[in-house]
Amino acid sequence: MKTASKEGRMFIFTAPSGAGKTTIVRHLLKTYDFLDFSVSATTRAMRDYEIDGKDYYFLTPEEFRTRVDNDDFIEWEEVYEDQYYGTLKSEVERVWESGKHIVFDIEVKGATNIKNQYGNKCQAIFIKPPSLEILIERLTNRKTESDASLKKRIARVKKEMTYQDTFDAILVNDLLQVALKEAEFMVETFVYGKPFDEEE
Ligand code: 5GP
Repeated sequence: MKTASKEGRMFIFTAPSGAGKTTIVRHLLKTYDFLDFSVSATTRAMRDYEIDGKDYYFLTPEEFRTRVDNDDFIEWEEVYEDQYYGTLKSEVERVWESGKHIVFDIEVKGATNIKNQYGNKCQAIFIKPPSLEILIERLTNRKTESDASLKKRIARVKKEMTYQDTFDAILVNDLLQVALKEAEFMVETFVYGKPFDEEE
């Protein structure tokens, strides 16, 4: 029987906004109890359905700046104008100390930053929409953003698509059920699989 890694691992799911990354991440967290989510800090406004401390740690810009000055972040980015997001060192410690592997749902620059710091402990997966047109359609239909915010997100998506080849794996999210199975395969292979055993 295969045994899971005792050493803490990381799965970074990154994607242009609207590629379905959150759906895939949620599915994996529900499927595997050896995974836990890295709750990021952000200064953006909380959405109706969100819970502070579960979806994000919602901070004021001042609180965020103080934590930057205290060197509390592994990485942080101004993802949109005046909207800061960052991964707290304490989150990584919290999850690893509980004996679980960490799942990140972050944008491409932060993902690259974490991958550079954690190397082989970390599997960075780029989720790709079937096409840019479909992505823009999904983003528009989501209706969580104002027109101005939507425009900013679309501009960003175009840029983010150019980063895809720098990650460990690309997962095309065309048919969701297929993408979910592929994501499961990636997680199981990294935690239990051959490439992982060979490294030890
Ligand atoms: P949203 O506002 O839609 O929740 O997230 C906007 C973008 O910020 C998404 O691409 C999300 O993955 C990314 N993001 C969330 N948390 C972090 C973080 O801690 N660091 C970075 N760099 N990006 C993040």
